[in-house]
Amino acid sequence: MRPSFHPRLINGPFDDPGLFVSFLFENRAILFDLGDIYTLSARDILKVTHVFISHTHMDHFAGFDRLLRLFLGRDKNLYLFGPEGFLRNVEGKLAGYEWNLVKNFYYRFTLFATEVRHDCLLTNQYLCQNRFLPAGDSEKMNFTGILHAEPAFSISAMVLDHSIPCLGFTIKERFHVNIKKDRVSGLGLEIGPWLGQFKQALFNGQDPESEFEVKFGKDESGKKRYILGDLAKQIALITPGQKITYISDVIYHKSNVEKIVSFAKGADHLFIEAGFLEQDRDIAQKKFHLTAWQAGRIAKKARVKQFTLFHFSPRYMGQDHLLQKEARDAFDGYE
Ligand SMILES: [Zn+2]
Ligand SMILES: [Zn+2]
Repeated sequence: MRPSFHPRLINGPFDDPGLFVSFLFENRAILFDLGDIYTLSARDILKVTHVFISHTHMDHFAGFDRLLRLFLGRDKNLYLFGPEGFLRNVEGKLAGYEWNLVKNFYYRFTLFATEVRHDCLLTNQYLCQNRFLPAGDSEKMNFTGILHAEPAFSISAMVLDHSIPCLGFTIKERFHVNIKKDRVSGLGLEIGPWLGQFKQALFNGQDPESEFEVKFGKDESGKKRYILGDLAKQIALITPGQKITYISDVIYHKSNVEKIVSFAKGADHLFIEAGFLEQDRDIAQKKFHLTAWQAGRIAKKARVKQFTLFHFSPRYMGQDHLLQKEARDAFDGYE
């Protein structure tokens, strides 16, 4: 089975946190956190449609300028989400530059920013040609946990405590469509972008009796027509959807732990910060971070299938194996 979402940490575990999640068969990605993103190619960054920022400490938000620099003058919309105070932070960043020449830009690049509060979402938009000034008063909506939803997946947030409000994120696929490659080639077809359209048709609940056209080959010159339901029976197997949870910068206390455990429940992959070793638990507590043992315990309680640690304190440089082992022991240990 090939998963739909391919997550990879942007940097090594001692560098700025952040997760780049690319989508199978689509020229598209999302980002969790926006620290140093110089290890990502411009090509990869330009695939990003949505950016979810846990909080605006510099190591999670300093990549804003590079992102903006690359998107400037392009025909794109970019959607950013962040915690309480986020609109002020975004506007502060945008106010840091002169924008006198952008009115001549041909393309209408627009930034949409949403501030996630406990009970509501505040959204505003910033059009490049309008010197990135707010379009008006921010729009208020109820916050139900979901930040963004499409037929195939949704992205939700949980407000956590890091001495300031800090967001955890989950991307959850509604169901997973496994493509049987041998059957695809058995029909004389090739793997290609049409598979994305095929999956989209299933997620959209398109009538199984309706016609589906497959375009394939060089310049999509090959065309074959199928009944959608028949094609699905032949080449697809439906299984539960993929779930990825990202938790960065949280203190270990009862309410945070309970929230994270329920939020990450059964995740295929949990990405979780682990700043310190358990022997330095007091320092972790003072800095509102987790220890590796605590991260491993949370992963265990949430019954995740796999977890990855990041955001190690530089004091452990060269000792990352100790952090890994500590979390692994907590994960494998008894209840
Ligand atoms: Zn941090
Ligand atoms: Zn922080």
